[in-house]
Amino acid sequence: MKCNWKVAFRTKREAEEFIEYGVTDGQNMVAYLCSVHKCWHIGHPKPYEENPPNRVQLLIDELNQNSED
Ligand SMILES: [Zn+2]
Repeated sequence: MKCNWKVAFRTKREAEEFIEYGVTDGQNMVAYLCSVHKCWHIGHPKPYEENPPNRVQLLIDELNQNSED
């Protein structure tokens, strides 16, 4: 994995706030769950297409989060 340098977030919400505050400089970034670090990173959406398990987990988490709200 090449994500050791990335900022690690404990929750998806923290990662999404990081994006919303514009720290990503207007780039199209998304929060994703890292199976290596058991935490959330932010990155470009494209890698998901190359990593189906992560994409599924992301969708599941999104459903769970919506039902909590
Ligand atoms: Zn990671």
